[in-house]
Amino acid sequence: VIRVEDLTKVYGRGEAAVHALRGVTLTIARGEFVAIMGPSGSGKSTFLSILGCLERPTSGKYYFAGRDTTSLDEEGLAELRNRQIGFVFQAFNLLPRFDLVRNVELPLIYAGLPRRERRQKAVAVLERVGLGHRLYNKPPNISGGEQQRVAIARALVTDPAVILADEPTGNLDRRTGFEIMRLFKELHEEGRTIVMVTHDPEIARYAQRILHFLDGKVEREERVE
Ligand code: ATP
Ligand code: MG
Repeated sequence: VIRVEDLTKVYGRGEAAVHALRGVTLTIARGEFVAIMGPSGSGKSTFLSILGCLERPTSGKYYFAGRDTTSLDEEGLAELRNRQIGFVFQAFNLLPRFDLVRNVELPLIYAGLPRRERRQKAVAVLERVGLGHRLYNKPPNISGGEQQRVAIARALVTDPAVILADEPTGNLDRRTGFEIMRLFKELHEEGRTIVMVTHDPEIARYAQRILHFLDGKVEREERVE
C-alpha cells in the first residue's frame, strides 16, 4: 500500500540545511504492522510526516495505494490525509475544551458528514476503544492511557486503511503502553496497515517488521518471529 523510492528531505538551505532523510527506498504491504526505531534525529518523525502527507519530500517518490502522491496538489493530499490515513501522536493532541465525542468527530466535520452520522460514528469508535462510559468527559479529566485511546478513536473514525503512530506509548507508563499495543494488535488483525515509531524495543516487538533508521536512512531491517 506504501512504496517510497529514494526519498529525501532537506530542511532549510545553504549552511543551515539539515538532511533529515537521505534516500529511503522501501515497500509496506497492505495489512503489515511495521515499527520504526533509531536514535534521536535519525529522521523517523520526518519519514512518518511524509507518509501522512503532512510534509512533502524534497526529492524521491511516494506512492500510496499505487497513486503517485508527489504529483498531487494540496487538495489531493488533504483528501488522502483525511480519508485514508489516521495519525496518532505521542502527545495525544486532543482539544481540552471539547468532550470526547466532539474530539473524535472532528475529522468527520472536515469530511463534510452530517451531524447525526458523525455522532453515531464517534460514539461507535469510542465504544470500540473501551470508552463508551466516558463519552461526555473532557480530555483533562481522563487518564493518559484513556487520552491515547481517544486519539486512536479519532484516527479510526474515518475508517482509514493505514494508521501512522509517532511514539504512541511515549507518554504512558509501561502497563498502559502495553494496553495500547493490544489495541494496535487488534487493529492489525482487522487488516489495517500500521506504521509506528517507538524507542522501546519491547513495544517494537508487537510489529512484524522493524526498520532501524540511522542518519536519515534505513540501516537495517529485522523480522519479528
Ligand atoms: P526523535 O527520536 O528525537 O523524535 P526523529 O528520528 O523523529 O528524532 P526527526 O524529527 O525526523 O528525527 O528529525 C530529523 C532531523 O531533521 C533532525 O536533525 C531535526 O532537527 C531536523 N528537523 C526535523 N523537523 C525539522 C523542521 N521542521 N525544520 C528544521 N529541521 C527539522
Ligand atoms: Mg521523532
